[in-house]
Amino acid sequence: MYSTISMTEKSLHYLELEEQYGAHNYHPIPVVLTRGKGVHVWDVDGKQYYDFLSGYSAVNQGHCHPVIVKSFIEQVQKLTLTSRAFHSDLLGEYVKYITGYFGYEKVLPMNTGVEAVETAIKLCRKWAYEVKGIEEGKATIIVCEGNFHGRTTTVISFSSDPQAKKNFGPYMPGFTAIPFNDTEALAKALEDKNVAGFLVEPIQGEAGVLVPDDGYLAKAKQLCEAAHVLFMADEIQTGLARTGKMLACDHENVRPDILILGKALSGGMMPVSAVLADDEIMMTIKPGEHGSTYGGNPLACKVAITSLQVLKEEKMAEHAAAMGELLRNELTALQSKHISLIRGKGLLNAIVIDHPHKDAAWELCLQLKENGLLAKPTHGDKIRFAPPLVITGSQIKDAVTIIGKSLAVLD
Ligand SMILES: *Cc1c(COP(=O)(O)O)cnc(C)c1O
Repeated sequence: MYSTISMTEKSLHYLELEEQYGAHNYHPIPVVLTRGKGVHVWDVDGKQYYDFLSGYSAVNQGHCHPVIVKSFIEQVQKLTLTSRAFHSDLLGEYVKYITGYFGYEKVLPMNTGVEAVETAIKLCRKWAYEVKGIEEGKATIIVCEGNFHGRTTTVISFSSDPQAKKNFGPYMPGFTAIPFNDTEALAKALEDKNVAGFLVEPIQGEAGVLVPDDGYLAKAKQLCEAAHVLFMADEIQTGLARTGKMLACDHENVRPDILILGKALSGGMMPVSAVLADDEIMMTIKPGEHGSTYGGNPLACKVAITSLQVLKEEKMAEHAAAMGELLRNELTALQSKHISLIRGKGLLNAIVIDHPHKDAAWELCLQLKENGLLAKPTHGDKIRFAPPLVITGSQIKDAVTIIGKSLAVLD
């Protein structure tokens, strides 16, 4: 097994700039992109690739979706930021639109995904003390092992990934981790009267697209309800049509008490996140108690409305369901001895590489890059296949041909 990475002078120039002047907190595939359109991206030498990562599901609508771009340009020339010290004519329109879209009484707008997770945690604790009646300072939140909810000091405190945690302590108390996809463990953890909430990814994305058993979410929701505990769904990666439904929770007709969205809420244009809940929860936060300078800015509001409209108008959820099935079938038909597992829902998929070499998944991704498809390993032996939802059937087949050809590098 060997790597054949062709790096041009031009690409190397950009890599070296990042290497010398940028913090080394990422380990990217060595490709330097300059343009994107739909399912494709192009590098600085003009080579075209399929994007099978979609910015970790931030560009569900496809790169530079023309309708979202138009909306962005119109608004950026008009008004971009007021801060929440003043009102804007777009915040009201946006909060009405998104709450109607998902069926909640209120929304709290933030920017990055992890800020929305932090907001959900704060809301959950406030609700615990002011509505449920837990003694102040005692509320706990149940989380799942293998979770990924972002990178703040609080959120990494309940990560089980040593890389995300090591030497970033001291850690925030108040979180209890249980195994994912284990309703018995949840039932047991819920016996503690100080539990305020259960925070879960409906499908664990970063962990390698771990899809729980059918019925897991519905049962978990039911257990939470019985224990008067808030069910909080982090749908930052799974939501917004990615898994073949508008929300991954929709597969089991579960309505989270707190819904957390991000990533594709702006179609990849800028960080836009949101927390949705009903008044009983949302109204526990009063003026001055939480906020964000950029949260709910007019540009974000406009772009988010359009990004949501595009998902519905182009029936992206239904399309993702059909294309996901095709993708998994085509991958299965490769009958590769190097793939030990193909899993996923809609267009959130992963393969698990079976190979004695520990860097096999990385080597395969380098080969995929050579052959015109971009993907990235997660947790060593897994590779996520999550193209923009606008991908066509023939593009899926073409991409799987590339994957099949590239697998030969592992022979
Ligand atoms: C990406 C992601 C986050 C964090 O979002 P950022 O915008 O990077 O802060 C949180 N939860 C899940 C499930 C994610 O996929």
